[in-house]
Amino acid sequence: MHSHIEVWLPRMPKSRKEAEQMVGELMAPYDSNRPGATAEAFWDWYVIGGRWTGEHDGFDSETDIRNYEVCRICKGTGDRGDYDDEKMRNWHRGCNSCRGTGLSHTWETAPHPGDIMELDKVSDSMTAFAVLVNGEYRETDDTKSLKEYLKRTFKITTGVLVTVDCHD
Ligand SMILES: [Zn+2]
Repeated sequence: MHSHIEVWLPRMPKSRKEAEQMVGELMAPYDSNRPGATAEAFWDWYVIGGRWTGEHDGFDSETDIRNYEVCRICKGTGDRGDYDDEKMRNWHRGCNSCRGTGLSHTWETAPHPGDIMELDKVSDSMTAFAVLVNGEYRETDDTKSLKEYLKRTFKITTGVLVTVDCHD
């Protein structure tokens, strides 16, 4: 299952690479692939952004051309050319993979800078399944506002949030 996690950092990383390192260190104790992993381990794979890219700022990754590639099924023509059934061909708009657009989504989502953002700039209405704060993993059980949750639970109003797509 994929979950939307937000990892809190006390300061803005100097680069995406540094962000990956900082998040990596905080995530490491919860790696279920680790020998001797406990029941507290909550991930076997994760990526910054992923299917939750743009949650901080409402950015829509569907509009980002970097997230598309030429459709491998129809080689970008938008027509597979091998439909026996005309009805089926029309239903799929020429290609069941790209629906006739000639473009497919890339497997990975291109890095979006907004996925690493100062807490005070993050959308007030954003929610998340869980947070990782000061080494503590907590499911938020909160459908209102993650900012409010952080303020209430950890007295945190500054720092940086990193959106993480987490698989367990
Ligand atoms: Zn296609």
